[in-house]
Amino acid sequence: MQKYRILLVEDEPKVAASVRTWLEENGFAVELAPDGAVGRFLIRQNKYDLILLDLNLPYISGQELCREIRTANPAIPIIMVTALGSIEQKLMGFDAGADDYLVKPFDLRELTVRIKTLLRRNSNSAGGDNEDEVLQVADLEMNTAFKSVRRNGQPIELTAKEYCLLEYLLRLNGRIASRHEIVEAVWDVNFDTGTNVVEVYINFLRKKIDRNFEPKLIHTKPGLGYYIGVIAG
Ligand code: CA
Repeated sequence: MQKYRILLVEDEPKVAASVRTWLEENGFAVELAPDGAVGRFLIRQNKYDLILLDLNLPYISGQELCREIRTANPAIPIIMVTALGSIEQKLMGFDAGADDYLVKPFDLRELTVRIKTLLRRNSNSAGGDNEDEVLQVADLEMNTAFKSVRRNGQPIELTAKEYCLLEYLLRLNGRIASRHEIVEAVWDVNFDTGTNVVEVYINFLRKKIDRNFEPKLIHTKPGLGYYIGVIAG
């Protein structure tokens, strides 16, 4: 079986060495770029299955590089690695198009779980899919065959993760999903990651789906979770 190829863009030699060794021991092929410029060069030259991208990098920042990669290749999974777990840094990463993030120092086992999840999702969506249909609430429409979303007839661009979250909520048909259920379903992990990734993504969805439209469709039930639907009255 062919190995998955991962590009690791990381300027701290110690972190780079330990991540690389770990991933190679776990059966991945890893190439290392010690700064953003080398990262850019390698991405243009080679094909990778996943990119592990540090945010703070010499020459070209992880954020800028992430944006470039995303424009050139919308489907490639990108995990952003940030030194500080501040919400601003996470948002910066997601705004640039990252699919997931990890805060240093991170557990290498968790890194493997995240990588496998993204790779699996990517190979699933590449193959022919099972039931294609249109999911709808009010004037919001999701076409699962084309992976497209419209509200009031206008196309809405979503990242892969935003799309998964929206599809999950739509399929619940107005039932409330707890944070934990969402993390399990959308991020494919069965432990509490201790992050506020669900809140962050709900906010992204609200921005794209609700901010410029009425009625609001994504709702918070304090202490319980989230649901999608039209509130009467
Ligand atoms: Ca760095």
